[in-house]
Parts: sequence; structure tokens; C-alpha cells
Amino acid sequence: MKLLFTFLLTVVSLSIYSQKIPDLKIVDQLDFEVIKKADSTDTIIKLDTIAPIDIKAENWDHTVYNPFKNEVVMFPLQLEFKDSTYASPISKNKVVTSRYGWRRGRGHKGIDIDLITGDSLFSMFDGIVRMSRYSRGHGKTVVVRHYNGLETVYAHLSAYGVKENDSVFKGQYLGKGGVSGNARGSHLHLVVNYKGIAINPEYLFEFNDSNSIRSNEIWVTQQWTRTYVHNSKRQSKIIPLLTEEDAITSLKKQKKIYVVKRGDTLSRISKRNNITIAAICKTNAINKNSVIKPGQKLVIEK
Ligand SMILES: [Zn+2]
Repeated sequence: MKLLFTFLLTVVSLSIYSQKIPDLKIVDQLDFEVIKKADSTDTIIKLDTIAPIDIKAENWDHTVYNPFKNEVVMFPLQLEFKDSTYASPISKNKVVTSRYGWRRGRGHKGIDIDLITGDSLFSMFDGIVRMSRYSRGHGKTVVVRHYNGLETVYAHLSAYGVKENDSVFKGQYLGKGGVSGNARGSHLHLVVNYKGIAINPEYLFEFNDSNSIRSNEIWVTQQWTRTYVHNSKRQSKIIPLLTEEDAITSLKKQKKIYVVKRGDTLSRISKRNNITIAAICKTNAINKNSVIKPGQKLVIEK
């Protein structure tokens, strides 16, 4: 009886939903599975939250790592997650060996998670495989696009476990970790991109055993996309922005990078950037008598 009721409720809610949005497309076989398997309460929630977007509709390119080059992305932007946890990309404890941020004079646009070559890798969310091929620097790479618009990138693999256009579910096997491409020792280089722009993954997710997503709705400012305001050796202070108002308020304090020019002094830099010498010294952990050299990068925080 309960089973019959569940079935009827599913059919009824499905038809109501279809009437409300006549052009609803079941975007993926997996969504369909969810609808069939879930119990009645879950079914209704799922139908309400699965955005009827077609992942492959735009910039669905297998050959280019960033097919969004011509798109303008407006910040702050809001990201939504239907769950409170992600699936861990590796099956053991996650040890982050290098973070998102400035590293050896250039931007490190992902985080490095320690592994042994041959360890299995898993998709953090449901999605469709956009790339499963060699990408310069990243080596053997799998890119999965998800239903909220994010892409997760799994780099330096030793073996592929999926093909392009494969639908994958959260926690599905993607391939084996390794050291291919430009890697020092075997690790997973994990990147989280939104329309081709990398976001500090630690701003969105906690990389510990909780596998937590920091919030179902989170606002991302450019602060969380710029590598030079983060340091690959330590975790940035993270306060998730939960409302648009918070996001806009946070923009009032911004950091930029200043490259020291020939003949520059702290006094000159302070005048040029309309900031005190004391503030420059504090942000950069130097003192007012420190020698600064042309080419040196200083962080200016206003
Ligand atoms: Zn890396």
C-alpha cells in the first residue's frame, strides 16, 4: 500500500512539475535514476531542486581546457549546492600539501592532495565528463562539469576511468592518481572552476573528514579567485559570504599586488597607492627600513 502511494505521489508530483515547466528536459540519465529510487519526500525535494539545465548546452568542448575565454563573468556571483557534503576525491585522509595561492613566483590555481600513484579518484558531485585527455602541464586530466555550473578538474592522473560525455554520479570512480604532466611527486592537483575561472577550493569546501560544503548558498568575490592574495603554504582566513550584502561589504577591503619599480622607496609607493607605510609594512611583514628591490612584489591592502 505504502509502495503504491509512493508511486502515485511520484507520478503526480512529476506531472505537476512538468506542467509548471513545460520545457523540462531530463538532462541526464542519473537524474532519472534519482527520481525512481528516492522515497516520496525525497522525490519532491529533488524535483524542486534539480535545476533543469542542460550541462552540454554551452561551451561543451573536449579539446580546450578553458572553453569560456570569451565569456564575461560577473562578481560577486552566487553558487548553489543541493547537498551539504561533497564526495571525497580520494578514499583516504586528505592531506593538502600545497594550497591555492602564490607559489614560487606564480599562481597555483588548485590544491594538491597527497596520494600514491594508482590510488583511485572519485567525482565530487554528479555531472558529465567534459574532458578526459592529456592537457599541457596538468598531464592526464579529467574535467567534470556539474549541475550548478562548477567544473572540477582532476590532474596528474596515471590512468583514465571515464570517457568524455560520460555521466558520472557523486563518488563515481574517475581514474587513478599519479604524476603525469608537470608534477613534483605523485599527487592530485584539484581545481574548481566556474566558467573557466578558478576559485580557491578551500573557500567552498572543507578538506577534512567532514567533506563539508561550507554553505548551500555561497557568494564568491574575486578575492577568492586571485592567486596572489593567497599563499600556497598556509590556509587563508575563510569567512563564507552568505548574502549578497555581505559579499558587497567585503569588497570594500581589497588587496592588489604592486611590483616595485627602479627608484621606488616605501614612501613613494605609499603615496602612489594612497596607503600608509605602516600598512604596507604590516601586510608584507617588513619594516620601514627594509630594502626593497625592483621586481619585488608587495601586497597592497586597502
Ligand atoms: Zn597543484
